[in-house]
Amino acid sequence: MIDAFEIQVTKVGESKLKNLSLENLPFGRFFTDHMLEAEYENGEWKLAEIKPYQPLLLDPSLAALHYGQAIFEGIKAYKTDAGEPFIFRPYDNYRRFNRSAARMNMPEVPEEIFIEGMRQLINIDSNWIPAKPDHSLYIRPFMFATDTMLGVKPSETYKFLIILSPTGPYYAQPMKIAVEEKYTRAAPGGVGFAKNAGNYGGSLIAATEAKKLGYDQVLWTDPFEHKWLQEVGMMNVFFVIDNVAVTPSLEEGTILEGVTRDTVITLLKEMGVKVEERRISVDELVEAHKAGKVSEIFGTGTAAVISPIKELKYQDYVMEFDTDKVTTAPEVKRRLTAIREGKAEDTYNWIFKI
Ligand code: PMP
Repeated sequence: MIDAFEIQVTKVGESKLKNLSLENLPFGRFFTDHMLEAEYENGEWKLAEIKPYQPLLLDPSLAALHYGQAIFEGIKAYKTDAGEPFIFRPYDNYRRFNRSAARMNMPEVPEEIFIEGMRQLINIDSNWIPAKPDHSLYIRPFMFATDTMLGVKPSETYKFLIILSPTGPYYAQPMKIAVEEKYTRAAPGGVGFAKNAGNYGGSLIAATEAKKLGYDQVLWTDPFEHKWLQEVGMMNVFFVIDNVAVTPSLEEGTILEGVTRDTVITLLKEMGVKVEERRISVDELVEAHKAGKVSEIFGTGTAAVISPIKELKYQDYVMEFDTDKVTTAPEVKRRLTAIREGKAEDTYNWIFKI
């Protein structure tokens, strides 16, 4: 096990930042001056390094490329009005990362590398955090198998990296969603709760086909009956039914345990809104909608935070929502932004100062 003092640092001669305007940046396109890289072999993590952002040289037989042991996380760092950098709930992503690692038969990454490495890396590149409302620095920790031989087995060597991407405001456009009845994202006993690369590769075709029909994303359903609701694309989902916020439960292991999902549940309870984490079927939703009881549906995730849904289609039945009139999601967002901007107390210790 290594400690914080062993992270080697090599800095760039000259920052690339002067060539870039931090205004209206597209998501995930530009990367900061430095990255963190750590290697695992012989059953332990070797020296971690912070060094200039650079390409990797990979052997064509690299295990991750063939057998898919690859996982990642998505986290955001911000600046307070006073210019102090902070990360939002990094320990929750850290724990989720190691749950993904365990499921994919990969080694856990110690806190000294994941959290302390991230802290030091962001400190070095803190000028890249846009000091503007709704702007952030997107943090992408990831790990992949690096054995160089063919044959399906758990790799014995791995690389863990963190890269950083400054990001402009993400205007969460109201979404049009179709209930998916052909493809499946996750089944009990599978890898739905893990943030492994293959989950994303396997889901692309559903979104591509939905887009051809004019929808932004799909609402995933269970693999057996295509009735039990899971999540919308890459977001968790909340249905406000009879003033109760219902969100699919995590018990079956088919849904990613979103950090934003947990944040939203906490804030809804604070607002006095009843929250139910349970199984919910599309039939129940349609019946409730026909009875005029569904007031609002929204998705939650790190990238867009909260995205209202303006249309949800199930077979021939279309549910429409006037997202200018909904009240629950905007109030959750207002409370969350207030905590992030230091205008409300950080009651739940979500702010991790760097
Ligand atoms: N579901 C999936 C499949 C996702 O990729 C994400 C994004 N990480 C989420 C839900 C939302 O999770 P979080 O709030 O932690 O970003």
